[in-house]
Amino acid sequence: MLIKLRAKIRFPDSGLELQWARICLLLLMFVSGPASAADTPAQPAPSLLTVEVRGRIVCLSEEMRQSYGANVPEKHAHDYGLKANDGKYYSLVRTASSEALLTDTNLLSRTLILKGRVFPKTQLLEVVGNVHTVRDGKVYELFYYCDICAIKSSIPGPCMCCREPVHLVEESVK
Ligand SMILES: [Zn+2]
Ligand SMILES: [Zn+2]
Repeated sequence: MLIKLRAKIRFPDSGLELQWARICLLLLMFVSGPASAADTPAQPAPSLLTVEVRGRIVCLSEEMRQSYGANVPEKHAHDYGLKANDGKYYSLVRTASSEALLTDTNLLSRTLILKGRVFPKTQLLEVVGNVHTVRDGKVYELFYYCDICAIKSSIPGPCMCCREPVHLVEESVK
């Protein structure tokens, strides 16, 4: 519309016309406003600092029922997450490193040390690397082991090679 307007108005002085074109362009930019979110290219993922959190695995829903009376039925699918020693709760991003924490109830009573990344504006923790546990002041690395294949894994359940059950190992860290 603004461009059409410009076309109709003719100035004898070409310099003036150029000026008018500039004003139209400015007006057009002002009217259209800043570029919408869809126009901006996707930002590269910011590099996040690795954190170390100590705590234990709890059912987050049950914790919210106990603390705030959340309407959680007695029978429910547990949603496991980390309750840190400082009282903060973290949901765990599902990866090979967190799979055991989300599924193996043998880990529920232990004090764990998780290293990973917490994503901006969330309490979502991505566990990176191996899970450690603390017992009597000593630190142990937790993993699963298949005696038949001599394979170490972070994932419980059948061995990825022979499909036989693996067992949980606590190996003391020097
Ligand atoms: Zn539960
Ligand atoms: Zn095996």
